[in-house]
Amino acid sequence: MKITAVGGYKAVGRNMTGVTVGNETIAIDNGIRLDTLQMYDGDTDRLRRYKTEELVNLDIIPRVDILGNVSSQLISHGHLDHVGALAITKPNAPIFGTPYTLEIGRKDYKNGDFHAVPYNQAIDVSRNMSAEFVEITHSIPQASIINVKTKEGDVVYAADFRFDNKSAIAQPDYKKLKEIGSGNVKALIVESTRVKEPGKTPSEEVVREKLDDVVEFIEEGLIIATTFSTHIERVQAILDAAQKAGRIPLLLGRSLYTQAELAERFGLLTIPPEAKTFASGKAAKNGLKMIEKREDYLLIVTGHQGEPKSVLSRMITGEIPFKFKKEDSVLFCANTIPSPINVATRYAVETKLQNLDVRIFKDLHVSGHASKEDHRRLIRMLKPEHIIPCHGDMEMRSAYAVLAAEEGYDINKSVHLLNNETSVGF
Ligand SMILES: [Zn+2]
Repeated sequence: MKITAVGGYKAVGRNMTGVTVGNETIAIDNGIRLDTLQMYDGDTDRLRRYKTEELVNLDIIPRVDILGNVSSQLISHGHLDHVGALAITKPNAPIFGTPYTLEIGRKDYKNGDFHAVPYNQAIDVSRNMSAEFVEITHSIPQASIINVKTKEGDVVYAADFRFDNKSAIAQPDYKKLKEIGSGNVKALIVESTRVKEPGKTPSEEVVREKLDDVVEFIEEGLIIATTFSTHIERVQAILDAAQKAGRIPLLLGRSLYTQAELAERFGLLTIPPEAKTFASGKAAKNGLKMIEKREDYLLIVTGHQGEPKSVLSRMITGEIPFKFKKEDSVLFCANTIPSPINVATRYAVETKLQNLDVRIFKDLHVSGHASKEDHRRLIRMLKPEHIIPCHGDMEMRSAYAVLAAEEGYDINKSVHLLNNETSVGF
């Protein structure tokens, strides 16, 4: 068997990995790299103005043609760095994923040959390979660990995940993972984004408690909370905190509108009847106009990374007519994505808010990615013969190799650090 690193093996983003057995290849994930083009909030429209080759050279999409013809395209979850390139690369193969994930894929790529698969249902993905999607917790609904069954053993793809036993919308399927581990796992392809963090990634439950505490604590002024629009469990936590504090939530921003609508349709999000959602910039202006007593409202807006086109940034510049007051509080319910562009834009937004004397609450967040001990647990459950860290720069993937070495793996023999557009066979 051959594993090909297509994208996501140099930096975080534009994830894609190929699995080849005999003369058949399948592709897993087909993502974009968000920071390189300042593409945010689910808006991939701008990308289509570029030629495919340009986007590859700009490090924005994976070089899919190195895999040749693929029998299937599998998608692990709905984050754009895993699904966002579909509309550009247009795979000429059936696309498999969980129902929620494929709804996100379909949004930009209407003509795709999508096949939604429930958890734990084995499906043929080529003549000789089958696959099943295993339920896992991450920071978006219906994320999965994919198990590809081949005649040479199983290939497990775990990007992205964390183990959250107290999630309100998902459960890690330990039983299934152990069952896979009791068989023959030839290779584990696994994310490495936060393997450097010691211990375990905390549960989303921690954020719920922090949010309730802060929102209840704030008595004066308007509350403006910002988070990932795809992080439905967190959006729900903000809505719930608002409701407990007697504030009316207003959701502003196109991606929040789209993602909330999707999650509501799947029964994964409950928007209280008094809440209102405003999709476009114009609607956002009208939404802000309805605010009379500031302490009666809580806004949920896009813009946690300081994205210039987000609602928060445009509220600061006045592009959306709004005046911040000293009593207002901004809640960052997301940490900065560790890329220089994000760090810079987020810093700029925070500085502008400080200059307006607005009160800032940070770190209302836990990561959606596994820490070192989560990773160790996954290795021990699956007992793979080979490990290929993905979804990270060389430093992140090397940190995974250190953990693998602790678990008895040998670098270059059973743990492999690939670069984009290279392969390993065993
Ligand atoms: Zn993800």
